[in-house]
Amino acid sequence: MILPFSKGDVKITSKYGYRTLKGVTGFHGGLDLVGSKTDEVVSVTNGVVLWSQIVTDKNNPTWQWGNYVAVSGDDGNTVYYCHLSERKVKAGQRVTAGDVIGIMGNTGYSFGKHLHFEVRPGNGSAADAAAYLHLPNAVCEISEREYYADEVIKACGFTEGTRAYINAYAWASDLWRKLAFAIRARKGKADRDGVIARCGFLPHTVKYLDAYAWASDLWRKLGERM
Ligand SMILES: [Zn+2]
Repeated sequence: MILPFSKGDVKITSKYGYRTLKGVTGFHGGLDLVGSKTDEVVSVTNGVVLWSQIVTDKNNPTWQWGNYVAVSGDDGNTVYYCHLSERKVKAGQRVTAGDVIGIMGNTGYSFGKHLHFEVRPGNGSAADAAAYLHLPNAVCEISEREYYADEVIKACGFTEGTRAYINAYAWASDLWRKLAFAIRARKGKADRDGVIARCGFLPHTVKYLDAYAWASDLWRKLGERM
């Protein structure tokens, strides 16, 4: 799974598990997240939209979710995105990880703009969403740059020297995210030009990477993971 926002760092404002909200202790089935740089919520998996709706009948506890989208993932997990201000997809629609599915909002039982993110394996009961996102289940702030850097470095077998080189680049965060998304999409082995095309790299990014001493090794490792 990828981060559920199209860009920027993410704050975890409430963890999965028991918590006390407005004096009432209850089980929180998801993770509450706030995007620092964008309100655009993206699908974390490839799959098919199961629900895209709002329930306004307060006899139905689902009203608490406000505008919500549920995606039945190809990985067998159904992911719920709740309290959206807008829904951008329809039930039955196929989505790819990274596609915008809605806008973070404050609809339903919500006290401030945030995304209630919930993972239900096999669409059964809610599991620890933090574990599925490879995040700590704690109130904290996640660096988008390091989140995607970790994923790409692990997938490609890069050294920490490569991380440091890329992190020195002004758009490092954007570069790591583009690489992670392209690796996720896995269309099959690519050459240097193929990697550039699939990642949508701009000429200055290519120039920057080509200046790296092990540039050919870097392109090869990337191309093998796409
Ligand atoms: Zn929540």
